[in-house]
Amino acid sequence: MNARPKKSFGQHFLHDRRYIDRIVSAIAPRPEDFMVEIGPGEGALTLPLLAAAGRLTAIELDTDLIPDLRSRAATVGELHVIHADVLKVDFSALAHSHGAPQLRIAGNLPYYISSPILFHCVEHAAAIRDMHFMLQKEVVERMAAEPGSKVYGRLSVMLQLACRVEPLFDVPPEAFRPPPKVESAVVRLVPLPVGELHDAPPEHVHAVVKAAFGQRRKTLANALRQLLDADAIRRADVDPKARAETLAPADFVRLAKVYGGL
Ligand code: SAM
Repeated sequence: MNARPKKSFGQHFLHDRRYIDRIVSAIAPRPEDFMVEIGPGEGALTLPLLAAAGRLTAIELDTDLIPDLRSRAATVGELHVIHADVLKVDFSALAHSHGAPQLRIAGNLPYYISSPILFHCVEHAAAIRDMHFMLQKEVVERMAAEPGSKVYGRLSVMLQLACRVEPLFDVPPEAFRPPPKVESAVVRLVPLPVGELHDAPPEHVHAVVKAAFGQRRKTLANALRQLLDADAIRRADVDPKARAETLAPADFVRLAKVYGGL
């Protein structure tokens, strides 16, 4: 316990009990839940989550933290530690190997890879019931941003097409050891039910959204030139003179369908 936090692993350990309690109450784990924690660290969230759920699977990249975590969890509940990079963990396979219950994922995420982790989780959204993450506040603002906002972009569109995004509360730097240079916030993500999901292939949506926001100051006719001409953009019911930041997530889905010839 109290190991020297490693910068390269994005280690900022939560120590303020009030915020730990607020996060655990927001998650409200129950004994039948299949809880998965990303980056348990020294166990600030792990132990109270384990106490409430009885079982928990934690994914940690830093080997040095694992023995202590295991011994502290031993009297609390059944902790299963996966020593791996979370980006290599197949959440759908993890759920299947336990009879396919939907996962409840939580974590005070390593900020240096927070966007890749979010995209990775979205890929496995069908296997996930909900997610509660601590992130940089600025990232949570981008995730929840609406069209027209300065911070509305690729992250907003891709997450909102897959999940309901619910910012919960802010957390100041002093709640962590060492304090990060930025403000943090906790967000809840609830994957949308199948009936509400769009029906365009994800790789086409990715391609269109990436190109559109790659040159966000340009008109769509310009930004999407490699993928769709002005007529094709009009066929998707979108104005080719509009800019990406004014489009709703559903507009990108229609563009992706035209791009895929659907
Ligand atoms: N949950 C702890 C807490 O709240 O005090 C630690 C949070 S700390 C911000 C992030 C944790 O993620 C660290 O334990 C770090 O070692 C771990 N981590 C970093 N990169 C990771 C990766 N690629 N896969 C899994 N865990 C990772």
